[in-house]
Amino acid sequence: MSGQDRLGWFQGDAAACQPPQAGSGRAWRLVLLGAPGVGKGTQAQLLHERLGACQLSTGDLFRAARGQDPCQLTPALAEAVACMQRGELVPDTTVLALIRERRNCLRCRGGFLLDGFPRTLPQAQALDELLAREQVALDAVLSYEMPLELIVERLGGRRTCTQCKAVYHVVTRPPQKAGVCDLCGGTLFQREDDKPETIRVRMQTYLQSTAPLIDYYERQGLLRRVDANGSPEEVLQRTLTLLHDGRSV
Ligand code: AMP
Repeated sequence: MSGQDRLGWFQGDAAACQPPQAGSGRAWRLVLLGAPGVGKGTQAQLLHERLGACQLSTGDLFRAARGQDPCQLTPALAEAVACMQRGELVPDTTVLALIRERRNCLRCRGGFLLDGFPRTLPQAQALDELLAREQVALDAVLSYEMPLELIVERLGGRRTCTQCKAVYHVVTRPPQKAGVCDLCGGTLFQREDDKPETIRVRMQTYLQSTAPLIDYYERQGLLRRVDANGSPEEVLQRTLTLLHDGRSV
């Protein structure tokens, strides 16, 4: 995808990156917050297409690293992969070491869309320090919000193809034949972490560690709340309106 090779993000500051072309003529520096299942990753992708800034997802970083030869990984990334494989949240010190290795992405003239970072208060405080040192400021922190019950319903209905990984929803995007992928005929399954009991646990972790960031950024006057209910395009339009006139919609 043009302007989002994210080499610097995936490989660290030593990598030569193709800077993104800012879509609207200015560089946006945004943080995206939201509980699992609100569609934050989809919005980050759509915002990249409209605004030009790269989607910098810590989750993507860890998933990409998991598929690499362990000898090729920086020490911080190797530790993060080990934590993920044990099913743990990656410790702040490791996440922050990774972010520091990628500070070029924070001073990129194309701006950035931070997705999945910061996730805890110490991470948010460290990000503030890092940005101050780089003399760059956040434009806004987008908080994608949706009632818990709706999130559980959304994630609980999601089905994934065992073969081609296409994603369906039993209510909003059902396959033509129940349980069978329209594209490749593969069997559809429900991911372990999309089961209602697991969703509630993930939500609990979000409420405990990440939700306090909403107050943190509200106090800084940066928070913009976005109603995450609706189609991805509707939510994108709300976000763009909000960014351009500075009000929550
Ligand atoms: P995500 O795709 O954002 O849900 O991230 C996938 C996994 O990566 C999470 O469940 C965490 O284990 C880990 N992870 C991603 N970002 C962070 C972060 N900022 N702090 C700690 N762990 C993270």
